[in-house]
Amino acid sequence: MEPSYLRLYQSGELEERVGEGLRTLRKCTLCPRRCGVDRTLEIGACHTGCIAQVSSFNAHHGEEPPLSGSRGSGTIFFTNCNMRCIYCQNYPISQIGHGRTVTAEGLAKIMLDLAHRGCHNVNLVTPSHVVPQILEALLLAIPQGFRLPFVYNTSGYDALETLALLDGIIDIYLPDMRYADERVAFQLSGVGDYVARNREAVREMVRQVGELQIDDEGIAKRGLIIRHLVLPGGLAGTQETFRFIAEELSPTTSLSVMAQYFPAYLASEHPLLRRSISIEEYASASRCLEEHGLENGWQQGL
Ligand code: SF4
Repeated sequence: MEPSYLRLYQSGELEERVGEGLRTLRKCTLCPRRCGVDRTLEIGACHTGCIAQVSSFNAHHGEEPPLSGSRGSGTIFFTNCNMRCIYCQNYPISQIGHGRTVTAEGLAKIMLDLAHRGCHNVNLVTPSHVVPQILEALLLAIPQGFRLPFVYNTSGYDALETLALLDGIIDIYLPDMRYADERVAFQLSGVGDYVARNREAVREMVRQVGELQIDDEGIAKRGLIIRHLVLPGGLAGTQETFRFIAEELSPTTSLSVMAQYFPAYLASEHPLLRRSISIEEYASASRCLEEHGLENGWQQGL
């Protein structure tokens, strides 16, 4: 199955979207923070200028089974983030800025390298603030033979206008749904409209790609997988998030429930985030899945 972006490349629309994306960087509204800065001259809340930064790239075997398959998911970890999670599990990359600048040519080479290694897909990790740069790299990589599907692996704080740039380019959306309460989102991640923006973004992702489709070899070809990290003290709003997914999306949505939380970065400053989740908290999340009839997906071992 050919990736959907080939049609956009052949019609010239991909090139138009690259132009539109790069123009957006001049007064940046790429993500819901809408900083309005000219990223060719200064940086906004994501601390990233007009050239993307990459921390690492590799064949990753620890993603959900249909993403990692037997040959790995080709992760590209982008440096910096548009969120400020005080417990970020990847904080050296997302908050402290470990990484190096990579031009569009360099990013195209990384994509091709992951394809040559046999990865099943290219998994764009924390991509929301560098979408135009990714599209620019894709435009260079296609004529060199790049054909892998993309996984858009996002915190889920994405703008609808930016998702429109990705329509027909991303085959697999992998958004987090982190919170169900705006006050908690503001306190823990520094964004006061996460829940509203996240829910509208996920609805748009479903509209673009639908539910998860897996081929005969068990590899994801298209669709949506939602990730939910259970936090201590009920801070992730697990019950309400699962209700939203089951009732307002579909009970057949693929959902990956994660138990891996550990107190990282600034978490020790918050009274409820100083510990891992308890067995009872995770059992409660499992019961919520059952109550809402959410049967498709994966649950990480505690
Ligand atoms: S991508 Fe960065 S500069 Fe642009 S609106 Fe978001 S946080 Fe601000």
